[in-house]
Amino acid sequence: MLTFPAYNSSPASDPCSYNFERCKLCGAETAHPTYLLKKTTVYACPVCDFHYINYLDDLPPVVPDEILQPIDHKSRNYIEACLPANELQHRINLQLVKCQTPLSGKQCLDIGAGAGLFAHLLAETGAVVQGIEPQVIFRAFAREKFGIELRGETVDARCWQQSFRAFFDLVTLWDVFEHVNFPAELLQQAANLIKPGGLLVLDTPRRDALYYRISEWSYRLSRGANPLFLETLYSPLPFRHKQIFTLSQLLQLVERSGFSVLAINSSVLRMHNKMVLVCRKEEQRPESAG
Ligand SMILES: [Zn+2]
Repeated sequence: MLTFPAYNSSPASDPCSYNFERCKLCGAETAHPTYLLKKTTVYACPVCDFHYINYLDDLPPVVPDEILQPIDHKSRNYIEACLPANELQHRINLQLVKCQTPLSGKQCLDIGAGAGLFAHLLAETGAVVQGIEPQVIFRAFAREKFGIELRGETVDARCWQQSFRAFFDLVTLWDVFEHVNFPAELLQQAANLIKPGGLLVLDTPRRDALYYRISEWSYRLSRGANPLFLETLYSPLPFRHKQIFTLSQLLQLVERSGFSVLAINSSVLRMHNKMVLVCRKEEQRPESAG
């Protein structure tokens, strides 16, 4: 099992000035460029073995919901076309959650709610649902398609951290950890909003899976000429993949953030494998500030 050094939860988080030699997971300042890809560079931390790219999103200012514009026809059709594939996965995810807890009447928050599909499925079970989605176009779609009002303020915002502390029975993070600037901080901020005994459920790609290992071997053997999946696993475009965890790193992170792991669904052998974690917030733990 890896051991993280003393964790510093307040990085210099300005996307324009972040020093990528500072590991985004453990804070050690000895990370170095390891995979030089066409559009981005993957840094690796020699202390905790975390991998992340040298790009951070510059988050747009939040557009108040009352001035959300109606979604244009082309965008609506594109999002609509993506829904069926997502719906199958989200229904599987919903079953996973329902195995752990009945949802009727429960306070739920879907962070990174996208077009609002999972929030909609949760609401159908009788849960009381809120969602966070920073991209305006998805919020407009969720409002029009599902009648769901997603919030644009990210989970670090005062409106969440002050008004919803220890409020939710369930927080979900589907496909979020690999996309955000600082996943460890995000997890702590999400933990602050969960009741003691409440659930956190998340999924994210797995770095110690076969497809990633094969890509690393290919990169080394070809001296960088053939990185295979590494080119598509990471992207310097806004809201795309910035980091990928190993199962061990993710388990350490959630346990360090005050959760016990109830269930893991993952296999290193599946291609493009994801790991799904179901975690329970410990009953007795002082919450962190921020
Ligand atoms: Zn590190």
